[in-house]
Order: sequence, then structure tokens, then C-alpha cells
Amino acid sequence: MERFPDKPFYALIDKRSWAHGDAWVVWPWEGNGSKGIEDHIVRLLQYVGENPDRGGLAETPARVAKAWKEWCSGYDKDPADILKTFEDGAEGVDEMVVVKNIPFYTHCEHHMAPFFGTATIGYLPNKKIVGLSKLSRLLDIYAKRLQVQERLGCQVADAIMDHLGALGCGVVITARHLCMESRGICKQGSETSTSALRGLFKDDPAVRNEFLQLAR
Ligand SMILES: [Zn+2]
Repeated sequence: MERFPDKPFYALIDKRSWAHGDAWVVWPWEGNGSKGIEDHIVRLLQYVGENPDRGGLAETPARVAKAWKEWCSGYDKDPADILKTFEDGAEGVDEMVVVKNIPFYTHCEHHMAPFFGTATIGYLPNKKIVGLSKLSRLLDIYAKRLQVQERLGCQVADAIMDHLGALGCGVVITARHLCMESRGICKQGSETSTSALRGLFKDDPAVRNEFLQLAR
């Protein structure tokens, strides 16, 4: 290829003796980085009926690649880093901590379509508390991954239980799913609510009711 840069390049792959599992074939001119993925965006543009050479789309593959990196930037973040606690002043805290209506934006794993809404997160501290802004950053770590709504709530609740050793925790999420509203069954304006309850939030009816009242 280096000797004949202007000649077409052909390659035969015998998949019967292909020893690389599901690995992608990356041709020398594709490179790794974002260039490879941009080729797939060009394919997608063709697939939806567009002309990828149209002026307005010239920068689109690079922009899409960059945007998806950001939308999925939660995979390489560790909730433990965010939930580092300060114990100062936490000894006397035995009341429920609740942060209401934290906005989030994520994408469903079934269609990679946006779903977005708000989460109300509450927990009963056990000598450990975190800054309130940490709860929204925790939510963001999991929202910046492909998600299903139920799992998003469970992951946030489990992280709070695991890293704060909380006595109980609850996460109520209300969201609109564009895969439901803009296509398929087209249920416009419908909201989906889910809750994940752990510890005393699950087992103690008084605690659960207090939280669910506050989360309304
Ligand atoms: Zn979906």
C-alpha cells in the first residue's frame, strides 16, 4: 500500500479461520481514535437517506462522535471518587437528607434515544454525609451511560448505600422517553415514574412514607 498509494487495495478475510473473535477489522487508513467512528456516522447518514457530502453535513460525523463521547462519559468515572465524605458535623445528623427534582439527561439502551427528567434522592445518614451537589454529580455519572430508567435509580441508590453506608436510601425518577413519544407507540407527553428503595426506606413504612411524601 505504501509502494502503490494510488492503487486500489483488496483484502480477503477467511472468517472460517478468523481467530480474533468479534474484533473489528481496522484498516490501516482508518486509525483507531474518532476517525474510525466517523466512518460509521457517514454510513448512518446514508442509511437515513442523507447525502453525507452535502455542505451542511461536512462536520457532522466529527461532531456526532464528540457529542457521543460526552453523552457516554460516565463509563470511566468512579462513584467512589465523588462520594468521598466529610464526617465533620455528621455525627448529629440523624434526619433524612432529601434533594428534590435534580434534572438529568441520558439515553435509553434500547434505541440510544434521549430520555430525561428529574430525580429525587434521599438517604438516612449513618455518620457519613456528602455535599448535596455530590448527589447530582453521582446521578450524572450513571446518566452519562446508556440506561434504562429502573437501573439508573438502582445504581444511584446502591452507590449511596455502598459508599456512604447509609441506613436507607430512596431514588424516585420521573422521565420522558423520546423513543416512546416520537416514534413507535407515540405516547406524547407521557411520564414514567420509578423508585428504588433500600434499607429503612424499604423496610420501615414510616420512613418510606416520609420520603415518598417529600418526593412528590
Ligand atoms: Zn428506548
